Amino acid sequence: MIEHLLKSVIRDVPDFPEPGIVFKDITPILQDPALCGAIVDSFVNRLTTGAIDVVAGIESRGFLFGLMLAQRLGKPFVPIRKQGKLPCRTIKQEYALEYGRATIEIHEDAFSPGARVLIHDDLLATGGTVVAASELIEQLGGQVAGYAFVIGLDFLKGHERLARYSSSVVTLAN
Ligand code: AMP
Repeated sequence: MIEHLLKSVIRDVPDFPEPGIVFKDITPILQDPALCGAIVDSFVNRLTTGAIDVVAGIESRGFLFGLMLAQRLGKPFVPIRKQGKLPCRTIKQEYALEYGRATIEIHEDAFSPGARVLIHDDLLATGGTVVAASELIEQLGGQVAGYAFVIGLDFLKGHERLARYSSSVVTLAN
């Protein structure tokens, strides 16, 4: 049901930001408050919410539903940001992009050791971004409680790279 709705609303933009990439534009979802609420409801229904202490969202589209989900769960939200954006002491993780490399960071005091952290991003492609985020969580003594994505591009098999951190991977559309 929500999958069908999401597929009808998400815009496929060919050759953005590079030739050969079909970019999944989620901005039309944001025009529909009921659909935004349904996304958060679907995450709550499909996750083991009792096993989540913190929601971490990845810059920048992971902030949109990540904060909404954290609010709904009554849990703290932690931003994972691109290099150079967080003002206090951070740890960093570099990872491979389709072309080149990128670095993400998290504040060292983002959560207490032992916290069970759900990682959220808008889209799972190769999994490189959330594997790097998972490494940050574990370096701070946290435990990856699971993953929640609006879209999972199944053909890129990103979920296979996540199994070593958590078996709980929720995607609402592909
Ligand atoms: P990856 O690390 O390969 O799993 O890529 C996931 C990250 O890149 C997410 O933060 C997405 O927002 C972005 N991304 C990758 N591919 C796409 C795509 N086809 N459409 C929209 N965003 C994408």
